[in-house]
Amino acid sequence: MKKLLLFFVSFILSMTVFANNTSSIKKIRMNNNPSQLIFDINSKIKPKFNQSYDEYNRLLFLEIEKTNLGPKFNGSNFIGKNIEKFDMIDYGSNIGFFIKLKPNITHKVYTLSNPYRVVIDFKVSSSNKKEFTIAIDAGHGGKDPGAIGFKKYREKDITLAVSKKLKSKLSKDFNVIMIRETDTFITLSNRSKIANKAKADLFVSLHINSAQNSAAQGMEIFYFSKKSSPYAEKIAAYENSFGEKYGEKTTSIAQIMGELSYNKNMEKSITIAKPLNTSLARRLGMKDRGIYGANFAVLRGFNGPGILVELGFISNKIDVKKMTREANQNIMAEELGNKIKGFFY
Ligand SMILES: [Zn+2]
Repeated sequence: MKKLLLFFVSFILSMTVFANNTSSIKKIRMNNNPSQLIFDINSKIKPKFNQSYDEYNRLLFLEIEKTNLGPKFNGSNFIGKNIEKFDMIDYGSNIGFFIKLKPNITHKVYTLSNPYRVVIDFKVSSSNKKEFTIAIDAGHGGKDPGAIGFKKYREKDITLAVSKKLKSKLSKDFNVIMIRETDTFITLSNRSKIANKAKADLFVSLHINSAQNSAAQGMEIFYFSKKSSPYAEKIAAYENSFGEKYGEKTTSIAQIMGELSYNKNMEKSITIAKPLNTSLARRLGMKDRGIYGANFAVLRGFNGPGILVELGFISNKIDVKKMTREANQNIMAEELGNKIKGFFY
């Protein structure tokens, strides 16, 4: 019993010592390969830290808990290829570091044991974010093949092939969001949701037309408009019907842009669509069928300018031949890319 009591007392004592124990920073050192800033910590327990990062000012705030400074440190020693400014504040129980990073430097903070260290890894950012974001929407996909036409070519395959080429064309100058990059089914409402979430500046939806009359051919571009001609309305109803066919009530897709942005976005969409359709048709030797406004469900849900390109008619032999040739798909991507770039820059 005495032994047990002694054990208990010593346990309480050790807990008290443990709780009061403050750590101290023994050394701060820069490591070059890999790029790291290392805080060597004299402590009996694993040090805890808090961090926050102010992206705009590139300022990392790192606070190491229950720790004080051992020796004095000269912050200017750590300024170099990763760090622009280094300050520290002793809060009595905690110590805070204000570390301004150089542009394009990313960081990661973690602890290591034996001996205890808090480490910041620095890396040169590979993302190099561009100013504008384009959402590329390859029409249909997965269980929805879109229109099936001549020689059983499927709309979803050609739209995906051109979308991928357009992505590589745009990636040099834009951030690109692919609504789908594989043969997957995505509802019409989710397509615009993905683009809105990415804060895309333009929504480009690629489709292929189909008609009962196999002689119908050529390219046309649509933009979102609440008013439309009977012809444009028919095309919109046709594309929207794929939503209905695969279980989506397309009438429930709300127009989230306000009246003012609606007019502005329509104007922008027309500015992109008009020269684009003409140059696309000319370069591919296809018929220029013009541009039209209509109530397309997939464009309605997007909060910005958007165009829906009908690259040709899958029901027309000549158009199918043109659209399935890789050289022509490259021209489509190039022309789409050039006109989009011309609009933004
Ligand atoms: Zn379609």
